[in-house]
Amino acid sequence: MSEFKVNEERLKQEFIRLAEISSPSFRERVLAEYLIERLQQLGLSVEEDQAGRKIGGDCGNLIAHLPGKEDCPQIFFCAHMDTVEPADGVKVVFENGVFRSAGETILGGDDKAGIAAILEVLQMLRETGVSHGPLEVIFTVAEEQGLLGSKNLDFSKVRAKFGYVLDCSGDPGTMIIGAPAQTRINVRVQGRAAHAGIDPERGINAIQVAGKALAQLRLGRIDQETTANIGLIKGGKATNIVPDSVFLQGEVRSLVKEKMETLTKEISETFARVAAAEGARCDFWAEFLYPEFHLDIKSPVLELAAKAARRAGLPVRYETSGGGSDANIFNAAGLPAANLSIGMRQVHTAEEYLLLKDLVDVARWLWEIIRVVIKQEWDKP
Ligand SMILES: [Zn+2]
Repeated sequence: MSEFKVNEERLKQEFIRLAEISSPSFRERVLAEYLIERLQQLGLSVEEDQAGRKIGGDCGNLIAHLPGKEDCPQIFFCAHMDTVEPADGVKVVFENGVFRSAGETILGGDDKAGIAAILEVLQMLRETGVSHGPLEVIFTVAEEQGLLGSKNLDFSKVRAKFGYVLDCSGDPGTMIIGAPAQTRINVRVQGRAAHAGIDPERGINAIQVAGKALAQLRLGRIDQETTANIGLIKGGKATNIVPDSVFLQGEVRSLVKEKMETLTKEISETFARVAAAEGARCDFWAEFLYPEFHLDIKSPVLELAAKAARRAGLPVRYETSGGGSDANIFNAAGLPAANLSIGMRQVHTAEEYLLLKDLVDVARWLWEIIRVVIKQEWDKP
């Protein structure tokens, strides 16, 4: 255990400050300006890439470098700047060691807990002056929009060979060793409009056709590795018109890409078959959002984090996730990245909360990761 201590009060204040800067996807600019200044104060050089322009947001990804001992492997820490909504006017309530929103908005611990922990360890490095390896901090945009920020990350600016994404709920010490690929599915069922009272016989009810197809789909949890959902349906104009069009959107995820592809095909064929039988037309298109990843427990990236967790006194656990994160994109780009649990709970809801104790544990964990790297003990567990 290292003798250096996380400054709890400073970390708490930093988290509150970050959470109260509204930063929904595509509107991360105000938060980014704050972070650029903070990172520069902490001795990092900061670059912004062109992702914002490409995805229609007001801000790109930030890639920041802190020089360190050259013979030490360079690692990165990554967290995303955007949050889901409602995110305007977040007011943090801190009581009995727990952060919550005032109730009208999300808290945004997803992913500002990660950002706050990273800033705290940078601050600790600066004030203790301990030697460390070169570090890279990557703050992404639009993670909540199908990983759009990291998908458009300018990897030419990234020097680290592996690293950590701080973006998983649950107890610090837990590491995500696998996460699913995801495909978004879109369906438009085209029927025929008619007056619902005068000549319904002329109509083909697109909503009903879609409903018949929906009733035949396998949705929810398909198996341990695979899930599917239809999450959005839009269509129809009025009660006295037989609806001629309905649009549905959903997703398929699997830790095994072939299973995702097979199920996507099955859903497409079901809509096509039912539509044809009902005299309707159907357009189906699938968008591949991101690939799956799997990490070996024996891989250096996980062994290092496990060793650091043990030094920090945190129980080491390995899990697979049902959700994607920027780690999917880094791994696909050839940069091994584990997603670490950072204590956030009930994310994406107004009931979201975060324990200060967990936040402190995350900072201690990161600190130990940096310390293990410099001691170059990471390859001999
Ligand atoms: Zn997140």
